[in-house]
Amino acid sequence: MTTATVPRGIGDALTDLPVGHFIGGHWTDDPTLQPVENPATGEMIAAVADADAGTGMAALNAAVAAQESWAATHPRARADLLMRAFDLLHERADRIATLITLEMGKPYAEARGEVAYGAEFLRWFAEEGVRGGGDYFRAPAGDQRIVVTRQPVGPVYAITPWNFPLAMATRKIAPALAAGCTVVLKPAPQTPLTALEFMRVLADAGLPAGVVNCVTTSNAAEVSTPIITDPRLRKLTFTGSTVVGRLLLAQASRRVLRTSMELGGNAPFVVLESADLDKAVAGAVLAKMRNTGQACVSANRFLVHESLAADFGDRLAAELSRLPVGDGLAPSTRVGPLIDSAAVDRVEGLVRDAAERGAQVRTCAEIGSGPGYFVAPAVLTGVDPESRVWREEIFGPIAPIRTFADTEQALAAANDSEAGLVGYVYGENLGETMRFAEGLQTGMCGVNTGIISEVAAPFGGVKASGLGREGGSAGLDEYLEVKYIGVAL
Ligand code: NAD
Repeated sequence: MTTATVPRGIGDALTDLPVGHFIGGHWTDDPTLQPVENPATGEMIAAVADADAGTGMAALNAAVAAQESWAATHPRARADLLMRAFDLLHERADRIATLITLEMGKPYAEARGEVAYGAEFLRWFAEEGVRGGGDYFRAPAGDQRIVVTRQPVGPVYAITPWNFPLAMATRKIAPALAAGCTVVLKPAPQTPLTALEFMRVLADAGLPAGVVNCVTTSNAAEVSTPIITDPRLRKLTFTGSTVVGRLLLAQASRRVLRTSMELGGNAPFVVLESADLDKAVAGAVLAKMRNTGQACVSANRFLVHESLAADFGDRLAAELSRLPVGDGLAPSTRVGPLIDSAAVDRVEGLVRDAAERGAQVRTCAEIGSGPGYFVAPAVLTGVDPESRVWREEIFGPIAPIRTFADTEQALAAANDSEAGLVGYVYGENLGETMRFAEGLQTGMCGVNTGIISEVAAPFGGVKASGLGREGGSAGLDEYLEVKYIGVAL
């Protein structure tokens, strides 16, 4: 195995790193490397292999070669492997969480939370994968019998984003493996280290050669297009931006390739007149600030009843001011950096645009001029609905607030977005709050809670937020084909 050691005083997380591609059960030794940066410092922390199209194809070849034997493996054996990987992830949680913080910046405690959440997908799908299922019944019109069975869809290409580098990979790989599919994983270029470390976990858990392969690259399109257009690939699963999702769907449509798409959000966070303000403010902090606002489920547009809005804005700003901003490895840090300098420029541009359109900006932290990609959390009031901060996915610690007078008006405003991933609604009037939740054009909704990610629940969006569901029992169906066999008796 090619390994790299970067001497830094942060324990052994950066020693003995796998930095090659993982193909056919082997680590490649590559001359072409791409840098990995720590967004809290701007320093290069490692360099990993940089795949070209040929390397991507080698990974697909390995996945195709392993498909038949993996599909024939007993479901219990596949589940046992997932459970061994679950245990190993927990044993190595400290190291993997440190890697997550180092390469994408989230506070270490949140990175530990991601390891626990990411590992749960291995356990959940180990349990789901052995349940089988199917049907056998008599056709209404005669003696024919209808047999319905489910078969693995075949080799899968999984493309993941940088914001949850472990959990987005396990949410795809665990159900694929449980269903009997082999996989090529392409992690985001910003966060290859966590993905490669997860490959080591799978290998140590006894993964047969070729069943999961991983290629890291700075040229996603060059590597991905030949894989997606290869007739042996049977499924594309993508988590990332809606822009890239559209592009991949266009490629997939040429082959009528099966896809799952987990795309961007623009979540409304609605505080109804009957809301408990303590709960709403606490939920808003969680829904806005997890991952420094860089989550697809981040609260993006705050819609607050006019009778509560001033109080809500003051209290939210006060809470955000209490969150220390800094390097995620510092124990006190609650808000880390953004992923890169382009993200800082984008988020600062959104705030400028809103201010130019009349918003009042309350900045909730002092950001020094030191290194790292930091943006101060801010609460914006009096926001014009045509502002970019209202229309676009923010992906940063900015909370824009608008007010409403009646609930119908709030629902129309909440649904006025092409995105439909998640919404949040706070209210103590059960009937009104539940009607609101039902009326939201989203795949998911939190009622009086700011955190909804849960391994046992179907996660996914409607409208331009995507196709398909991950997690829950629906997450396994994404990797199975339903097959009907008609039997004449
Ligand atoms: P991104 O779309 O830029 O990149 C995602 C992945 O796609 C990366 O691996 C990237 O290398 C790859 N990619 C980019 N261009 C490609 C191309 N032409 N062909 C093939 N692959 C390509 O997104 P990001 O910035 O990494 O992640 C943030 C986005 O992900 C946000 O929009 C967020 O909402 C979304 N997201 C959605 C969910 C969900 O479950 N719905 C979860 C997490 C993140």
